[in-house]
Amino acid sequence: MIVMKFGGTSVQDADAMRNVLSIAQEYSGHKILIVSSACSGITSELLSIASDSVYLSDEDRIQRIHGIIKRHIDICIELGLGQDTTMQIQEIGTHVLSYCEGIALLGESTDRLQAAIASCGELFSTNILTGLLRGHLNVQWFDARKSMKTYDLHSGVQVHMQQTSLLSNQLLKPLFEQYDIVITQGFIGSDDDNRTTTLGRGGSDYSAAIFGAVLEAHEIIIWTDVSGIASADPRVIPNARYIECMSFDEARMLSFFGAKVLHPETILPALQKNIPVHVRNTFKASDRGTTITRMGDERASGMRSVIVRKPVSFVQVRATQVSNEHSMSELMKELEQLSGLKPMISVMIDSSIGLIYDVSISKIEEYIKHLEGDNNAEIGEYALISVIGPNFRNSNAKEAIKKFHEIIHKNEESPIIFSGIQKNTLSALVNSVHVENILKALHAHCT
Ligand code: ADP
Ligand code: ASP
Ligand code: MG
Repeated sequence: MIVMKFGGTSVQDADAMRNVLSIAQEYSGHKILIVSSACSGITSELLSIASDSVYLSDEDRIQRIHGIIKRHIDICIELGLGQDTTMQIQEIGTHVLSYCEGIALLGESTDRLQAAIASCGELFSTNILTGLLRGHLNVQWFDARKSMKTYDLHSGVQVHMQQTSLLSNQLLKPLFEQYDIVITQGFIGSDDDNRTTTLGRGGSDYSAAIFGAVLEAHEIIIWTDVSGIASADPRVIPNARYIECMSFDEARMLSFFGAKVLHPETILPALQKNIPVHVRNTFKASDRGTTITRMGDERASGMRSVIVRKPVSFVQVRATQVSNEHSMSELMKELEQLSGLKPMISVMIDSSIGLIYDVSISKIEEYIKHLEGDNNAEIGEYALISVIGPNFRNSNAKEAIKKFHEIIHKNEESPIIFSGIQKNTLSALVNSVHVENILKALHAHCT
C-alpha cells in the first residue's frame, strides 16, 4: 500500500483536485490511502472565525461561514459533482454554523470547539475529493477520527500509537479488500471520549506518517507545491536546487529548524518502520522529487540545505548566587508555566541556561522579568540560520565548517554560534538585517 498525502495547495481548487485525480489514476493497480489537508487557507480562516465569533455580530459570523461553504460548493460545481457531495458540504457547513453560534452564545471559544471547527476543513476537502475520484476509480471515504486516537498532555495533543494502530488495522485496513483507494483526513483525530482533536498546525504530514507506519505502507508520498526538498526555500532563493536523496536525520533537522516543507514529527513514525518518504510536486508530477531514507545519500557531504527561522528570541539566565543544575531546571519549568511557551532549544551549562524560543521578543519578555530575582537574565531577538548536512562531525566536513564560520563572522559582528551537538546541523543566531546576505552566501556553498 502507498500512503499519499496532499497538502493544502494540492487541493486548493478544482484544477488542483483534478491533478490529484490524475495522480491517483497513474498509480492504478496500487492500493492507495489518500490523506488530505483542508483546501489552502481554510484551516486558518476557520480558526479565525472561531475566535472572532466571541465578538462578531450574528450577521458577520454567518456571512464569513457562508463564504467558506461557498468556496467548497463552487469547487463542486466546477468539478460537476452530484448533489450528494454538495449536500455533504452543506451539512458540514451547518456544523460550523452551530459550533460558532455556541461560541457566540458562550462568549468564549474553548479548545474543544476550536478543534471541532478546524476539523471541518479536512472534512470538506475529503468529501469533495471522494466525490471527484468516485466517478473514475474504486474509492471509499473514511473518517480519520475513528482510528487516529489522541490524548491530551499538558503540553498539547499526542497520538496514542497503540490504539491508533489497533483501530486502523481493524477499521481502515479491511476497506482495501473492497476498494482500491481510501480517502481520509490529515490533521484530525479524536480522544478517548471520541471528541474531535487535531494534531496541530501542519499536522497532515504527521497523520500520513502515522497511517503509513501503522498500516506498514511500502512508501509515503507527500505531494506538495514544490518539487521536493531544496537547498533553500525555493520561494526565497529561486535558484535553489532540489535534493534527490536525503537521510531521515537530515530531513528531521531541516523541518525542526524551520523548513515548512515537512512537519517536524513527520519523519519519526516512518523512520521507526524504515518506510521511505518521497516529497513530490502535485503540479509537476513527473518531477523526480526528494526521497528520504534512513541512510540518505552516502556520497553526499558538507552543507546541503540552508534554513532561516525568524524571529526567534534568545534568553540567557545566569545564576548570580551559588546555584546548581536543579535550580536551573526549576527556573526553566517556571518560565514554561508562566509563559505557556516551550523553548525550541535549551542548553544548560553549570549555573547558566540558554533558551531559544521561536517567537518574537514581545511574546516572552514580560515573563523574563519574573525570573530575574537573584539571577541575571538577558533577552534578544534574532534570526536563527542553520545549515543541514549528512554529518558535520566527519573529517571531510572540515572545509564546510570553516566556510560556515567564515561567512557568519564576515557578516555579523557578534553571532551566537552553536554547532556540533547535532551532527547534521550548524546554527547561528544573527541579527535579522544580516540574514539575507548570510543566506545567499551559505547557499552558494550548498552542494
Ligand atoms: P503543503 O500545503 O503541501 O503542506 P507547505 O506549505 O506546508 O505545503 O510546505 C511546502 C512549502 O515549504 C513550499 O511551498 C516552500 O515554500 C516551503 N519550503 C521551505 N523550505 C523548503 C525547502 N528547503 N525545500 C522545499 N520547500 C521548502
Ligand atoms: N489543514 C491543517 C493546517 O492548515 C493541517 C495541514 O494542512 O497539514 O494546519
Ligand atoms: Mg505542510
